[in-house]
Amino acid sequence: ALRPSPLADLDTAALREAHSAFARAYDDLKAAGLKLDLTRGKPSAEQLDLSDDLLHLPDGRYRDAAGTDLRNYGGPTGLAELRAIFADALRVPVGQLLALGNSSLTLMHDTIAFALLHGVPGGELPWSSRPISFLAPVPGYDRHFTIAERFGIRLIPVPSDDNGPDIEAVASLLETDDSIRGMFCVPVYSNPTGAVYSEEVVRALVSLPAADDFRLIWDNAYAVHHLSDERPEPIDVLALAAEAGNPDRPLVFASTSKVTYPGAGVAFFGASPANVEWMLHNLSAQSIGPDKLNQLRHVELLRDADGLAAHMEKHRAILEPKFAAVDAAFRERLAPWGGGTWTAPSGGYFVSLDVLDGAAKRAVQLAKEAGIAVTPAGATFPYGDDPRDANIRIAPTFPPLDELTTALDGLCTAILLAEAETLLS
Ligand code: PLP
Repeated sequence: ALRPSPLADLDTAALREAHSAFARAYDDLKAAGLKLDLTRGKPSAEQLDLSDDLLHLPDGRYRDAAGTDLRNYGGPTGLAELRAIFADALRVPVGQLLALGNSSLTLMHDTIAFALLHGVPGGELPWSSRPISFLAPVPGYDRHFTIAERFGIRLIPVPSDDNGPDIEAVASLLETDDSIRGMFCVPVYSNPTGAVYSEEVVRALVSLPAADDFRLIWDNAYAVHHLSDERPEPIDVLALAAEAGNPDRPLVFASTSKVTYPGAGVAFFGASPANVEWMLHNLSAQSIGPDKLNQLRHVELLRDADGLAAHMEKHRAILEPKFAAVDAAFRERLAPWGGGTWTAPSGGYFVSLDVLDGAAKRAVQLAKEAGIAVTPAGATFPYGDDPRDANIRIAPTFPPLDELTTALDGLCTAILLAEAETLLS
């Protein structure tokens, strides 16, 4: 058998030999006729089961602690009891936290639409009064990019590392490009790298000189989604921004999509008092109040901050072995060949894998032809353009562990073949 050593160091003869071995393994893989999926960043059925009490709650009850009849219109800020459960984890004071509809992505989309149409507090003109841009830390979340692209907002990629976006790059872009109005941030267990922004990075983001109507789209989707006991201290971005003299800069978003049910959960918006008032004003033209009965059943399921933490531990118990399987597969199959580097996140929903430059698209294509669906290479970059063609987002949460393991092994086979091909070409 072939002895593994880093592909990039092999001479042509050794590389050809490795290529033939990989090609044979790939033929076997194809012959197995798999049909597996690593694209879906969603909870498994087993995780959804954890929240099935929601299916029979609120069990005839329909009043909040204040005695309000929640069956009716009204209550635009959302249920105070539910906001109290999430206020601590999100580090947003209850009075500045809104509990709204079923999707934080909808809130981000609508917030950006409101800003385009009406401008934001502190801004003189609607964003749409001139061509605008957003900063997009890469690799990032493709649905953020889609919102910007749909609205004609130019996206400027910003490199990021384990501590968050590259602050020097952000500072110099903000200084030289006055079209920048926003920046997408996933500060905790980022999609897809799992990076957690350091306090230093957060302080810089809220204090760097920028336009008065510049906003951080602070998408704290994974604030409570821990996978280990090593937990980042939650950062109070609103307090830091206020301290820096820019209280209106961050707009905090979150949801229970990956706490309870995606699609039937509750989304949150948190910001400065001026931004919250602005948001409520805009929302008042759109709705006479959120689904408070859904919020009530969430209160009954989760009860309090400890109940939320305990619920998330059950998710962790299901997810931890899946993330371990990703690490094990790459360690065993890719590492001996120097075939990639990957993140080992302590929370969130994804692993970010960098294969050898120029091989990601081909690897995803080969995997697909062998019946293993992987998120398209490039999806983690604005306009689908990964300049190195190296990044692949791995979503290990949805498939059962045995299917996940099989899919990862097959993916590694496809990656190694793609890399050998790339180096030979
Ligand atoms: N934000 C991030 C970073 C995500 O990864 C996701 C889902 O994958 C969402 C938002 C979607 O949130 P919601 O279900 O609240 O719309």
